[in-house]
Amino acid sequence: MLIRFIIAIVVLMNVLVAAGASANSLSLVKATWPSDAERVRRNYRDTSQFLHSGYGFYLDGAPAQIAKISRWLDKIYQLPIGRQTIDAIMESQNRLIVRHSTYALVASGRTSAPVTRHLSDGVGEDVVILFDARIPDEGSHHVYDSHRQPIAFNALHNLFHELSHANHMLNGSWLYFDSEGQAIREENVFRRQLAEMLGLDKIELRVGQRGRQVWFP
Ligand SMILES: [Zn+2]
Repeated sequence: MLIRFIIAIVVLMNVLVAAGASANSLSLVKATWPSDAERVRRNYRDTSQFLHSGYGFYLDGAPAQIAKISRWLDKIYQLPIGRQTIDAIMESQNRLIVRHSTYALVASGRTSAPVTRHLSDGVGEDVVILFDARIPDEGSHHVYDSHRQPIAFNALHNLFHELSHANHMLNGSWLYFDSEGQAIREENVFRRQLAEMLGLDKIELRVGQRGRQVWFP
């Protein structure tokens, strides 16, 4: 009987110690502002057609970054070569992730995949595009025309260029020895179609892969 009583006391003491310890550790947590109770409750409705497109396309970032990349994708999709490229991406048997990344800024976007023969044999690989969603619509870089004059490389030119690389890697049509040439040729078709849609007199076409960063966060 006494033994039972002692066990009961020990168990009760353990419970009290545990409760005291958790009360202590709670009091050590810094107050956050605003508190959870004061936060605005939010739900999100996706209005871009690219957020739920099955296996083909994933956007990875905070809601504001995803919204910005989505808005650029929706615009790219309005042009024939943009539509053709995005449709081919979504129909590929591989997965594309477009991920917000501040590390992508210096290179104005990075597109990568495992380097295997599948990049060029029609099978393709999963692809990741790192893209900095902080850049303004005007873009972060200049590139150059045939007279070596700087021309715009706006966010749409830039993202389309990466989508062009991604499309060929996803579908196994990537040109190992001329991957930049392949993307720049398609970028120039995109430039022409965008300039025509906007009714611009001058169509700036890009020559060479060189670029210069002109926007800094
Ligand atoms: Zn490129």
